[in-house]
Amino acid sequence: MDAILVVNAGSSSLKFQVFGIEGANLTRQVRGQIGGIGTRPRLQVKGADGTVLIDQSYAAEAVRDLPTAIAAAREWLLTIEGFELRAIGHRVVHGGPDFAQPVLIDTTMLDRLASYQDLAPLHQPNNLAPIRLAMEINPDVPQVACFDTAFHRGHPEHTDCYALPRAFYEQGVRRYGFHGLSYEYVAERLSEIAPEPARGKVIVAHLGSGASMCALRDGRSIESTMGFTALDGLPMGTRPGQIDPGVVLYLISEKGMSADAVSDLLYHEAGLKGLSGISNDMRELLASDDPRASFAIAHFVHRCGLHAGMLAAALSGIDAFVFTAGVGENSAPIRARIAEGLAWLGADLDAVGNDGGAALISSAASRVKLLVVPTDEELMIARHTLALIRSSAP
Ligand code: ADP
Repeated sequence: MDAILVVNAGSSSLKFQVFGIEGANLTRQVRGQIGGIGTRPRLQVKGADGTVLIDQSYAAEAVRDLPTAIAAAREWLLTIEGFELRAIGHRVVHGGPDFAQPVLIDTTMLDRLASYQDLAPLHQPNNLAPIRLAMEINPDVPQVACFDTAFHRGHPEHTDCYALPRAFYEQGVRRYGFHGLSYEYVAERLSEIAPEPARGKVIVAHLGSGASMCALRDGRSIESTMGFTALDGLPMGTRPGQIDPGVVLYLISEKGMSADAVSDLLYHEAGLKGLSGISNDMRELLASDDPRASFAIAHFVHRCGLHAGMLAAALSGIDAFVFTAGVGENSAPIRARIAEGLAWLGADLDAVGNDGGAALISSAASRVKLLVVPTDEELMIARHTLALIRSSAP
């Protein structure tokens, strides 16, 4: 069977999926990841029906970094039979100011994507490492880069800029927005399951470890809560979301923190983790009876409401509000609390549907449709990859 490999490489985990190509259809065959790179490495792979194909732990030094993780994943991938690799699709966090679509990668393109490394120093090098390696090992297999920023590239300039001297915008200091592959998938799915609101004004809340919201008009992004980096907007597992830049200046100039220390604080020690002092994991916070856990959740819900209001203003009202990603798809109590904060916009929750795992969770009387739409960034990448190799085939 012809197949597409989808790769999502981060600093502590390497995720991969294999999709079979059957005509225009893509079917997920394998879903795997190596987590705990450098600490407690573990390769876990499941088949299409959820059967565990491998679950193997490694010594920390055996899978100490991303290249060794790629080698371990490759070693396992080479053992599976019956697949003919036709292309590799990669999640790449940054497509810079120019790329509004996925691209086929050659060495010139790889250099261009590497030039965006200073825009996303924690992610872009990891995203590009497997591309570089696959180019060396399998030069004949086409590779496609799919960007987290691309879906937001149609924003008008006056919404995409910061109020800084214009030269900074030209240098790339812009509001890029992220989670674009998730929003693109959800927008497509919404047009299938709720075509009427999908053509209107929609807020999608991607609430996972990273969290953001996107305003969609007729399926296209017009605003996002994330900006130049994935630090802005909603509070997240370990990131604070919107923060007065004066706090950063204060930490550096008055508290003597280095830029690296502030970066570590903002990316790894803040958000739900920092505020609760307990965990970055919403499940653990919901299960805890520690008042610090409920305090962190209250902050999260409050900020979700504020940002929803901001995006509702950008859209001049909303027809639908969609929950997606780990928290959005799985936590009925968090959805209920956020929905409560949307009552002023005309949202009314159907508590039974919400608790029962329905896709439509608003009442019949609700002016705003509330929906739960599971996201699938990997399928979006596989679709883009297939489309691009087919359209560029000689
Ligand atoms: P990412 O892909 O960014 O790592 P996910 O979209 O998988 O993140 O979301 C992870 C978050 O979802 C975690 O905070 C986790 O606790 C939360 N989550 C998953 N299932 C539930 C649940 N049943 N209730 C509450 N939170 C959940």
